[in-house]
Amino acid sequence: MSIDYQSLAVKGVQALSPYQPGKPIDELARELGLNPDSIIKLASNENPLGPSSKALSAVRDALDELCRYPDGNGYTLKQALSSRFNVKPAQITLGNGSNDVLEVITRCFADPASEVVFSQYAFAVYPLVTQAIGATGVSVPARDYGHDLNAMAEAVTDRARLVFVANPNNPTGTVHGAEAIEAFLARIPERVIVVLDEAYCEYLQGEGYADGLSLLERYPNLIVTRTFSKAWGLASLRVGYSISSPEIANVLNRVRQPFNVDTLALAAATAVLDDEDYLQRSRDVNAEGMKQLETAFDEMGLDYIPSAGNFIAVDVGEKAHDINQSLLEQGVIVRPIAGYGMPRHLRVSIGLPGENDRFIESLSRALDSLSLAESGRGA
Ligand SMILES: *Cc1c(COP(=O)(O)O)cnc(C)c1O
Repeated sequence: MSIDYQSLAVKGVQALSPYQPGKPIDELARELGLNPDSIIKLASNENPLGPSSKALSAVRDALDELCRYPDGNGYTLKQALSSRFNVKPAQITLGNGSNDVLEVITRCFADPASEVVFSQYAFAVYPLVTQAIGATGVSVPARDYGHDLNAMAEAVTDRARLVFVANPNNPTGTVHGAEAIEAFLARIPERVIVVLDEAYCEYLQGEGYADGLSLLERYPNLIVTRTFSKAWGLASLRVGYSISSPEIANVLNRVRQPFNVDTLALAAATAVLDDEDYLQRSRDVNAEGMKQLETAFDEMGLDYIPSAGNFIAVDVGEKAHDINQSLLEQGVIVRPIAGYGMPRHLRVSIGLPGENDRFIESLSRALDSLSLAESGRGA
């Protein structure tokens, strides 16, 4: 007699489909027999500059400590974050990427009797962690691809324990300003935890953008999450954090794995916080690349969702799947987002100018060959 082990998994997990990451370069190289060096990856919102040299030398210096457990309290990194953001170390919770923090938050505050509110087209991890713990996800229809904050506030019932707001959001790049975020917070009961996911906040420049940290004092139910994976260029090392009241941080600390951020990651993150020049170059390259892609899309007559992040979702039409396939064959990896309910869009991370050019040329070739095939003239 054989046991169906899948049926032994808890109910939420049985129905779960795993997170679909961007395709790694080596995987595409293996699948299509391409030279990995000829492939460009614009699929996971990684920093195209490569890691900061300060982070690299901090990692080298920390290598001799690999035989030891990391500092489970992340003292040095918390000190650095504390002085940069003018918060107390006791307000900070470190995670193995902010993904880890999002999961810890959900496990601490929601259970199978709870509802967790998020937006349609929001970051895929929210429904995933909600379902994994057996809570009920409440997906609120988006408005022009962005969070409909009014509708989200109305969706908060007595059973709601948590609300996730990604600002800017991934994969749409939509963003709300300071006033809208504060008006939203003012409508959420204090017993409901609001997670403001600011994974892309470093790219926001100019007036009127929301800075979750400035709202913490007025809204004790607020948790702000941030990451070193995007603008800070350390995606592989997995470091993220939340800033909240010390009381909430204390709760999160009970569930967090004791050594969830490793020594190299702690060293690199601490060092890169000092590299203001790297951050500014990240912003500049991103702003330039964003213009480059927008201009190209305009010229090609393609609609896109204006983005505040380091990526952009472009509407390539009903044949998005085939276009993505053609891009892969040309050695260009972007992210199809049909899994987000956006089957016509591809999400493209902003690359270096040459990478953006290569993507634009490949996209234009893919569109041309498709329209040739459709008009019956294709071979
Ligand atoms: C990339 C991303 C994260 C988390 O990334 P980590 O690498 O786990 O820190 C969180 N939220 C959003 C919206 C993201 O796009």
